[in-house]
Amino acid sequence: MALRNCANCGKLFSAPNPSMKFCLECERKDQEQFDQVKEYLKEHATATVIEITKETGVERKRLYEWVRSGRLDVAGIEDLGLRCEGCGMAITSGRFCLECAARLQQDAKRLLGGQKPQSRPREEGKAGFHVANNIIRRRRGD
Ligand SMILES: [Zn+2]
Ligand SMILES: [Zn+2]
Repeated sequence: MALRNCANCGKLFSAPNPSMKFCLECERKDQEQFDQVKEYLKEHATATVIEITKETGVERKRLYEWVRSGRLDVAGIEDLGLRCEGCGMAITSGRFCLECAARLQQDAKRLLGGQKPQSRPREEGKAGFHVANNIIRRRRGD
């Protein structure tokens, strides 16, 4: 048991396992909302994110969290509004499309042992440029 702050309301609570981010109250609320969305998707398999948030009252942010963590299967949702942080392509899970994920892994390998990358992949479309820049800078030694 470890004491920690709830990621949602900030309340101190004792977590029975380390993967627990929310206090019991928020966890229960989260589960309720999740069930609501699940139920809604059962009847409206092709619902859009906007429809889901409107009908269930669940925050879009939370919806994305579920998708990112793989908890929610959104195969049926046409356009989730999730975009690859590397190239901006529409994706259904995670943060990057398969191509960018593979490229980033390569870049990370190449940069390993060098200076910390100064740019974050969040800067859409510029990741490749910044990486190249870092390598040039390193070669010049400044
Ligand atoms: Zn809480
Ligand atoms: Zn991409």
